Amino acid sequence: MNETTDLGNASILEPGLRLRKDRIPSPAGQENHDNDQLYEQKSLLLESHRSCEQKKSSDSPGGNEATQEDERFMGMLPLLQAHHAMERMEEFVCKVWEGRWRVISFDVLPDWLKDNDYLLHGHRPPMPSFRACFKSIFRIHTETGNIWTHLLGCVFFLCLGIFYMFRPNMSFVAPVQEKVVVGMFFLGAILCLSFSWLFHTVYCHSEGVSRIFSKLDYSGIALLIMGSFVPWLYYSFYCNPQPYFIYLIVICVLGIAAIIVSQWDRFATPQYRAVRAGVFLALGLSGVIPTLHFVISEGLLKAATMGQIGWLALMACLYITGAALYAARIPERFFPGKCDIWFHSHQLFHVFVVAGAFVHFHGVSNLQEFRFMVGGGCSEDEMQ
Ligand SMILES: [Zn+2]
Repeated sequence: MNETTDLGNASILEPGLRLRKDRIPSPAGQENHDNDQLYEQKSLLLESHRSCEQKKSSDSPGGNEATQEDERFMGMLPLLQAHHAMERMEEFVCKVWEGRWRVISFDVLPDWLKDNDYLLHGHRPPMPSFRACFKSIFRIHTETGNIWTHLLGCVFFLCLGIFYMFRPNMSFVAPVQEKVVVGMFFLGAILCLSFSWLFHTVYCHSEGVSRIFSKLDYSGIALLIMGSFVPWLYYSFYCNPQPYFIYLIVICVLGIAAIIVSQWDRFATPQYRAVRAGVFLALGLSGVIPTLHFVISEGLLKAATMGQIGWLALMACLYITGAALYAARIPERFFPGKCDIWFHSHQLFHVFVVAGAFVHFHGVSNLQEFRFMVGGGCSEDEMQ
């Protein structure tokens, strides 16, 4: 119980140490469970203590003090004063700074880090240091796959975007206009993927940082959807600018509404997982209306060939599958603890997002090529 008092003090001083405060083992019925957690937390602190011990003894001749402190800690003396709690906090930060943290189980995570209870182990502890968070990119934990899927996706779309922007102007009917329009898609994709890998990297920093970056992450999804609509609407309604502008305004309004909704604090909570998936799915599926408009006005055959509806349908399938896995937490719900590091739903969702965005780009490239082949002119039939 004594160490609990100490840990409670520490948690007041530093959000990163709330981990310990959350686990004060007061209810008698949970004693064994809490003892396990305490053991784990104690191990963490002891590890931190030793990692900094050498550093301390080189700074001052008080090496024995550190040993005594360790003994007192081990012996669980009745009262540890507030400055000891501060020392613990410094040691913890020191340990994180040195990259000496180790992964912990879901049970000992603070509430703000508890997102998916089917991932039982392999979580990063709270690490109130950006340096430590960024160094954790190269460690194996529950977020490793989430970070790398979108970090590599981001680099891929950045390269693809640069390549596209430097394509010779003679390959376009209206080079500047078309590059701006397709550039909107690349901007949306790069922002979405950047916000995402950044969020997953600093997610364990602190509650405040996690909250800010989760909002950026959700806003990024809305930006990707909005950016995807721009070139697709541009080429689909190339000869009919009125519906193009109307649909563009509608998707911008809906996208901004989704961004506003995602600023709501509770939107990021595990209870709203299905709502989140629903909001972004609905935003993406609002594309069904302009698609139907196109199919009705151009005919199914023209829509399938000229309109690249097949690629659009594949893209929709990828996004819907990704969102469904994300909302239902498949496959980890069937194998709790077996997908902690690889192949859990969030990682699969990330892969589906990158694949969906690439399929969309491929469809848009085909639309652009078709427009270039017909020379940019619009027949009277097309302009109606
Ligand atoms: Zn994510």
